[in-house]
Amino acid sequence: MNKQDTRDGRHGNPLTGTLSGTSNPAAVRVSKVPAPVKGVPTERLIEAQRMRDRGMFYSDIGEVLGVAGITVTYWLDPAVRTKRKTSGKEWYATNSEHAKPQQKTYKATHRKQTKATDRTYRKQHRAKRTAVNAARRARITGNTIGDRKEIAAIYSTAQDAPRVRCYICGNLIPKGKRQVDHIIPISKGGAHTPSNLAVACEHCNETKAAKLPSEIGLLI
Ligand SMILES: [Zn+2]
Repeated sequence: MNKQDTRDGRHGNPLTGTLSGTSNPAAVRVSKVPAPVKGVPTERLIEAQRMRDRGMFYSDIGEVLGVAGITVTYWLDPAVRTKRKTSGKEWYATNSEHAKPQQKTYKATHRKQTKATDRTYRKQHRAKRTAVNAARRARITGNTIGDRKEIAAIYSTAQDAPRVRCYICGNLIPKGKRQVDHIIPISKGGAHTPSNLAVACEHCNETKAAKLPSEIGLLI
């Protein structure tokens, strides 16, 4: 039995673990696994949720986690997320005429910050970007493309797994140096599918380039 669930009656029956009336927003708020928020690690969401369930204010939670209270609200309240997403989109649809030149001016006057932000963004989303690029190349050349989610999982595992070996040289590859390679290159008709993907170190991937495994002495 979980402490959180028994804190008070409104969270339902602690013996059966059922929530009393899931239509009640208070009940929805105690779901153990928070709804995923793009770009926020689940552990952080769980941490924030725990603090909220202990009765802490959003602003205090924010202080502990080093973000604004309003950010915590965004993390923990799907309704806020939906609202902000729609209102942002609506706003942009009606104001993009004004927004675009403003963004341009901002970028021009804050070149350093913009560059740094872009760099950080690119770094954080590198795996996703390479996957998207590969899929695009495969689409253009008409190669087989596998399940998008399965492929994305390979790219992120390649990046985050504690130990990954290069499929060509067999060496352990440190994080940040792992490259997902198409065993049969896309340019040679290779599929963009999980079974044609393997992780290589930078050196091997560059040496192999668009060669077939047989061309570099691999018997796979
Ligand atoms: Zn290697």
